[in-house]
Amino acid sequence: MAEAQPQRRRRRIAVEEAFATTEQFDALRVLVETTTEYDPDLALARHQVDGTYIKSRRLLDLEGERLQLMDEAGIDLALLLLTAPGVQMFEPRLAADMSRRINDGLAELIGRHPGRFAGLAVIAPQAPAAAVREIERAIGSLKLSGIVVNSHTDGEYLSEQKYWPILEAAEAAGAPIYIHPRAPTPLMAKAYRTDRLEHAIWGFQAETGLHGLRLITGGMFDRFPKLQIVLGHAGEGIPFWLDRIDLMHTRPRGRPALQRKPSDYFRSNFAVTTSGMNWHVNVRFLIEALGADRIMFAADYPYQDMDTEVALMDSAPISEEDRDKIYFGNAERIFGL
Ligand code: MN
Repeated sequence: MAEAQPQRRRRRIAVEEAFATTEQFDALRVLVETTTEYDPDLALARHQVDGTYIKSRRLLDLEGERLQLMDEAGIDLALLLLTAPGVQMFEPRLAADMSRRINDGLAELIGRHPGRFAGLAVIAPQAPAAAVREIERAIGSLKLSGIVVNSHTDGEYLSEQKYWPILEAAEAAGAPIYIHPRAPTPLMAKAYRTDRLEHAIWGFQAETGLHGLRLITGGMFDRFPKLQIVLGHAGEGIPFWLDRIDLMHTRPRGRPALQRKPSDYFRSNFAVTTSGMNWHVNVRFLIEALGADRIMFAADYPYQDMDTEVALMDSAPISEEDRDKIYFGNAERIFGL
């Protein structure tokens, strides 16, 4: 009798796994306590920093329960990102200094657990010159795997000219920029507030999808053709709209001219992840719309459970070849893991 085939052990990399530091939480707590206007990001942060939010403990834990849950779920390597809104709400000097300390700590953590963690460098776009220096240091010296930006900074997107040096530095370093969600700006979030739609249920995606689209329509990939952007949450809605964006970009006239179709940039300068969106319908759609080479698995821990997301991707009705690309092949290539 033939022996049962041993179950194939496939490498699993999860690429949008959040953490926080006490320094970040302490600075957020100051903002929460001193800001009188309603702010959708601080409304979330209020729960994170007051000790009542169940996931805060998990955000702050890196070497305890997290590693155990990774083992239980079969996740070999987690790519860590400082949780939203990163350092982007702090005053520029503090934000730039904090980003260096956090990146140093991240590099040390990765060194203590070879093969288990990789990380994206946090930067402070509100201090563009310091952010450029930090990209060079974090990628060149600390060997971090890319950069995370939590969507808007003071209501502005990275396509604004003052942020171009950041895009240029990322391109030069070969470092992908992961545009992670945060809530829409307070002005935009007004329309979301009545039904509390400004967070992960809709507002994050509307905000971050707009940011990604503006990088395309603002001509950033004509200017920085090798720049690579990563979007979580199945591409923040853009893949579903791609065909219509191409059609409507040509009318009415008056937009800045692009050398290529919007979808061409999306297919060559973007990758998407399945963070919190491992719904099989999405996974199949993304493969059809973008091809399996542009999709990476993410669990979005601790906001989602690792074992649930792994079970979804393990059971997705896709080819084993595509599942390998999504679980590890693409992340190895795109983030150099
Ligand atoms: Mn996330």
